[in-house]
Amino acid sequence: MKFVSTNHRSPAVGLKEAVLNGLAPDGGLYMPEALPRIPLFADTDSFQEIAFELSKRWIENDIPERDIRTIVESALNFDAPLRRLSDSLFVLELFHGPTLAFKDFGARFMARLMGYFLKDSDRDLTILVATSGDTGSAVAHGFFNVPGIRVVILYPRGGVSEIQEKQLTTLGGNVTALEVDGVFDDCQRLVKEAFMDKELRKKRALSSANSINIARLIPQSFYYCYAVSQLRSSEGADPHPRIQDQIVFSVPSGNFGNLTAGLFAKKMGLPVAKFVASTNLNDVVPQYLKTGRFEPRPSRKTISNAMDVGNPSNFARMQALYQGDLAALRADIRGYSFSDVETREAIQEVYKTYGVILDPHTAVAHLGMKEYLETTIRPHEGGSFGATIRSPERGPFRATIRTTGILLQTAHPAKFLDVVEPVIGQKIPIPESLERCMATQKKSIPLSNRYEDLKERLM
Ligand SMILES: *Cc1c(COP(=O)(O)O)cnc(C)c1O
Repeated sequence: MKFVSTNHRSPAVGLKEAVLNGLAPDGGLYMPEALPRIPLFADTDSFQEIAFELSKRWIENDIPERDIRTIVESALNFDAPLRRLSDSLFVLELFHGPTLAFKDFGARFMARLMGYFLKDSDRDLTILVATSGDTGSAVAHGFFNVPGIRVVILYPRGGVSEIQEKQLTTLGGNVTALEVDGVFDDCQRLVKEAFMDKELRKKRALSSANSINIARLIPQSFYYCYAVSQLRSSEGADPHPRIQDQIVFSVPSGNFGNLTAGLFAKKMGLPVAKFVASTNLNDVVPQYLKTGRFEPRPSRKTISNAMDVGNPSNFARMQALYQGDLAALRADIRGYSFSDVETREAIQEVYKTYGVILDPHTAVAHLGMKEYLETTIRPHEGGSFGATIRSPERGPFRATIRTTGILLQTAHPAKFLDVVEPVIGQKIPIPESLERCMATQKKSIPLSNRYEDLKERLM
């Protein structure tokens, strides 16, 4: 697989270069030159089996099959179960990794790919990451103790939850946490400046592990496929279905890596009717879908803080996938944004209705799904409607189209205790791994938001 820059001013590169560079030399993001097709999966395939089959199609010319299997088995060694809330609503639980958030998928896969590509090199690599919460801990855990790699994490002081901060700052070893006097956008700007700094890059081999690294996105496309396969297996096989599912994913979005990975899966052939881009008040992309103007602005703090992003970097990839065709993008994506008040109400409502505790990010996804259904599905049809389907084997036939919504559950609610517990009036059981981490002493280094200070530290 070759990867090209969204800015089109750097040459196409192989996987190794794309992964180790992070950002292309022209400042663009790497995109696959052509997407592989999704093979036919058996409904009983495990997540690892699906991940392996898809990984092979992405990277088989770059890494031998046997090593791909090792990478998949060690990176993606936890499940992504689909949980049923009602006949037409499901959540895809993406919090079963070590840091209890979906970023474990991307971070672990990327860390293992980098470790693989660097195993014969004598050059040390510095991974530089800006985080608004979950990226940093997922990356830190993914790279912890990987030989030849140093991890430097920048996070906004007071901008992450106590638990997130502990997960970032308690590993030690090859992981350094810098507590920046500023907001997430300052952290992201500092990292970008470092990558553009030729003098620094001569001295230090730098790589990024933000969702700008293509290796983060590749495995995130896998669980969309796995979700659809689990949905099918729960329904049983019907060769001539009278009921056709129209699958809608609601994706709680900040930097839009997760949603872009979903778009990859759709372009690879996964039958997805729509993606709902659900955001908090940082609504640059929903606004773009509405007005056609992309207007980044400083991020605002919300209770779904991992989505407090004012200039989502993967927007460039979304544009590239659709060649800037706004109408085509609108056909596949709806965008809605919600306030903290609405988010709290959603946590409460879901808890009362289904007995399921959501974190604030997934609650935003639930709001987005509701809004989508209320504004697009005619109410008297209750989410289903009749339509004529054309099948290659049977020709046209009548079927009922039923909308099935899947929320991506991006984090375990225990990571956001301060927000969630008062809303539901209940204690949330804390997973044991988290309790251990909370009992450890925080180690971080304060940093101003001036680039010179970061540079000095990195040199
Ligand atoms: C990072 C994060 C998001 C946003 O994902 P993007 O890929 O940046 O859009 C949503 N929820 C949680 C819990 C996150 O950590």
